[in-house]
Amino acid sequence: MTEPTQRPTKSPLTLPDAASLTIDAMIRAPYDGQDERDIFSKAAEFTLTEQARAAQLYPFFQPLDRNDGPEAQINGRRVLMFGSNNYLGLTRHPYVIEAARKAISEYGTSMTGSRLLNGSTHLHEELEARIARFLGKEAALVFTTGYQANLGTISALVSRRSVAVVDKSDHASIYDGCQLADGEMIRFRHNDAGHLDTVLKRVGKGKACLVIMDGVFSMGGDVADLPRIVEACRRHGARLLVDDAHAIGVLGQGGRGTGSHFRLADEVDLVVGTFSKSLASIGGFVAGPKVVMEWIRHFGRAMMFSASLPPASTAAALAALDVLEREPEIVDRLSRIAAIFRDGLRQIGFDIGESQTPIVPINLGDEYATVVFWKLLLEHGVYTNPITYPAVPIGKAMLRTSCMATHTQEQIERALEQFRTVARKQGLIP
Ligand code: PMP
Repeated sequence: MTEPTQRPTKSPLTLPDAASLTIDAMIRAPYDGQDERDIFSKAAEFTLTEQARAAQLYPFFQPLDRNDGPEAQINGRRVLMFGSNNYLGLTRHPYVIEAARKAISEYGTSMTGSRLLNGSTHLHEELEARIARFLGKEAALVFTTGYQANLGTISALVSRRSVAVVDKSDHASIYDGCQLADGEMIRFRHNDAGHLDTVLKRVGKGKACLVIMDGVFSMGGDVADLPRIVEACRRHGARLLVDDAHAIGVLGQGGRGTGSHFRLADEVDLVVGTFSKSLASIGGFVAGPKVVMEWIRHFGRAMMFSASLPPASTAAALAALDVLEREPEIVDRLSRIAAIFRDGLRQIGFDIGESQTPIVPINLGDEYATVVFWKLLLEHGVYTNPITYPAVPIGKAMLRTSCMATHTQEQIERALEQFRTVARKQGLIP
């Protein structure tokens, strides 16, 4: 293992001034207020990533040589994988791989068109029926990505006289769906049902509301306060959409998500999810009442105007769902492994926020310290994800770590040892 080089303690990068900027302004800062004669000028002036590369601290778009699930290979070296969403570790499951292979030989590599016209197969229809049955909903629709599932669902439903009410920490695809919709968007404080209640009261009875909430938050790994959120929705006659991208296969009976976890599945009107995490593939879905699915099918532009999920990916998601239904004990194993991992990180002395899931943030605050920590960990054989501005506000940087059901106790212990060693080296803990 290479010994990490001595690094300066102050960032060599020029970051925007946090103090004077709101989150919104920060995200738009590079684009706003400039007199643009050439549409490319902002790109030409954007130097932050080049500075990071020159300082050998650019952490994104890291190509892997191999991905074996709990371990991977990067730059010719084996690493422990603690930076993926492969929560059940099914991407290397022989049954899932074989299903994808078989679908390619039956349908080829792509359907080359949208579901609406020439991109549907019996596999897509079977996956929709299986997802609906798994979640106890009347029907489901399969999209090409989870991102598109949010775009298509929200923009089809939130029309001019309606309002989307979203949690501040909801996923970007929910915000983008709201931007695409004709209706208004209002935010409420993160996981704060009291504030949601106030917002819904203010909106009043004149407008139809769709409350949109991540079930498990993608960065914090915390769980939506569904009992109180449901209560507020009921009180004001609002519909509820839960994005369970990080909860399917993770929470609830047999991995049925946040609604099931709280025994409130019937109170969740719409469930959005993805196949790109526990279900070892790519693609997304929405599940709910049949009439609503019929509406989205014909007004959800993200579905109508984009090519369908490839057959291999559809078959892989179906096979992963088979495994999950046949072996629900893998969800319990994941939850045990995650508890060991969280306890270990907490014992080292890290601030892991409110995480209750396999997503465990290490809140460091400082952007530079976070990227250096990420780099040293990689040098010590542990792969994680640094999360910096603009994914989180400046000063709220974190290392996003995540574990999977297929991590062994030995791999967890080995990783924790490296977390401790590196944190000590960096002066993050005594
Ligand atoms: N919703 C949430 C909460 C997510 O975290 C993500 C992806 N990180 C998505 C939707 C989008 O899913 P996909 O990767 O399938 O586009």
